Amino acid sequence: MSAVNETLIRDVVAEVLGKLGGTITTTAKPAPAPSAPQSGACGCGTKKATSAPALRGKFGVFATAEEACAAAQESFLQLKEKGMAARRKIEEIVKALAEKNAEQWGRIEFEETKIGRLDHKIAKLGLIKLVPGVDWLRPDARSGDHGITLEEYTPFGVVGAITPSTHSIPTLSGNIVNICAAGNSVVFNAHPSAARCAAIAVRAYNEAIYRETGIENIACIIEKPSLDSFNELCKNEFTRLLLVTGGPMVVKAAMQTGKRAICAGPGNPPVFVDDTCCPTRAAKAIISGAAFDNNLLCIGEKQVFVLDQVADKLMQRMAENGAVKLNPSQLEKLTKAAFTFKEGQGGGCAQAHTNKDYIGKDPSVLAQAAGINLPSGTQLLFGETDAMHPFVQEEQMMPMIPIVRVKSVEEGIERSLQSEHNYKHTAIIHSHDVENITAMARALDTTLFVKNGPSPAGLGLGGEGYLSFSIATPTGEGITNPRTFTRVRRCVMVDNLRIY
Ligand code: NAD
Repeated sequence: MSAVNETLIRDVVAEVLGKLGGTITTTAKPAPAPSAPQSGACGCGTKKATSAPALRGKFGVFATAEEACAAAQESFLQLKEKGMAARRKIEEIVKALAEKNAEQWGRIEFEETKIGRLDHKIAKLGLIKLVPGVDWLRPDARSGDHGITLEEYTPFGVVGAITPSTHSIPTLSGNIVNICAAGNSVVFNAHPSAARCAAIAVRAYNEAIYRETGIENIACIIEKPSLDSFNELCKNEFTRLLLVTGGPMVVKAAMQTGKRAICAGPGNPPVFVDDTCCPTRAAKAIISGAAFDNNLLCIGEKQVFVLDQVADKLMQRMAENGAVKLNPSQLEKLTKAAFTFKEGQGGGCAQAHTNKDYIGKDPSVLAQAAGINLPSGTQLLFGETDAMHPFVQEEQMMPMIPIVRVKSVEEGIERSLQSEHNYKHTAIIHSHDVENITAMARALDTTLFVKNGPSPAGLGLGGEGYLSFSIATPTGEGITNPRTFTRVRRCVMVDNLRIY
């Protein structure tokens, strides 16, 4: 049988089995057993993993962190041997498969997590092609009287990565592109409520990568993730670096491990609207950003502060463009359903906690809790609140945006700053006054600052720039890209090789 026919048949069988059971089993031949293991680690990062037969035929999906890290270490060393061509092939495969399987994987993720919107789950997978890969890495060179010096962006080895429930396969896919483009391998501890879909994608990626490069486990995953497997992953000798995408608890846990952690942490993005903006443009932008995937994105607009003199016009434009306004009693009913209040935790007031049953749910579900039926096509709910309302203060991840009137630009900026809780994540302004824009940018000091557009414009979706689903905020690396996962190494040639 020709190689092409064999590959074609394997693909068809995998696809049919995938459709039948959701789990794509492999017909790919197991890799030949690797050569005898090297013993002892000297700390140089090239120690070989023990190549027990348990690592064969898993295509990245392992029961334990120990096995996953050993397989990833072995694959890292293989990638090193196979060079840039193999890195390019991995990037190409992940981007192509994410797009090809967007519909199927989007549906699987949606059915498993039951949050967000199916159309947007599919759309997010179609965007992986915008994540930067191998071509991002360019060495820096210096040339002078004393010769030439090259600074290269080189890999670490195995990266341990934690992914959120809000976009499991998209985060994982974008992370593989970035991390492997830089020459590393990766082990994922996915969110337990989005781990099954993540394992399906990992297996499919590895099967295709194995067919093309002979590397079987470049991206590994722990099949049933837990806090224990997180700890084991962080402690493993092969894990050189952590990439954490999630909320405050996991960021804190990662920072306490003693390993270097790149943390893509929580946000609570405020929007400030002044009286120089175009209210129609601002209303449309707020709706499209906050309604995306039912406001699960960490960059999504979560609360709006608007100058009193333009507030009515903004809300009118929002109502004309697919959002529905809740009256005070409807808002109160929804607030009671969407938050629980624990006495004694809020410094005198009851502390609000987001009710998980409403996170990422459709506007119609929220409307039911508010006691109303919605017109079809409703994208978003909104309602007027005060600045300390739970919908303003909590990162609620629901398609309901609170609108707060402010009396001055200074008050708008101050309240935006307070509600962002120093996450330094994302802020948005709608204004044509450069003084106001500059003042807010300086005061908020966020990683992303979007002017006159919806929040996704900050990730290259309708604005200039590139895409990542992991925005490293507290640790400062910014929108992650292949360079984020590299060690800078300098190579110096003294007095020679300068050619003029
Ligand atoms: P989450 O914090 O509940 O979970 C994220 C991951 O961390 C999961 O894999 C989870 O199992 C793990 N985890 C949680 N607590 C842990 C602990 N104490 N120790 C070890 N592991 C732990 O987050 P989520 O609800 O899945 O995602 C939403 C959160 O992630 C929001 O806060 C959002 O802003 C943030 N987020 C940030 C970015 C970014 O790029 N900055 C991207 C997506 C999501």
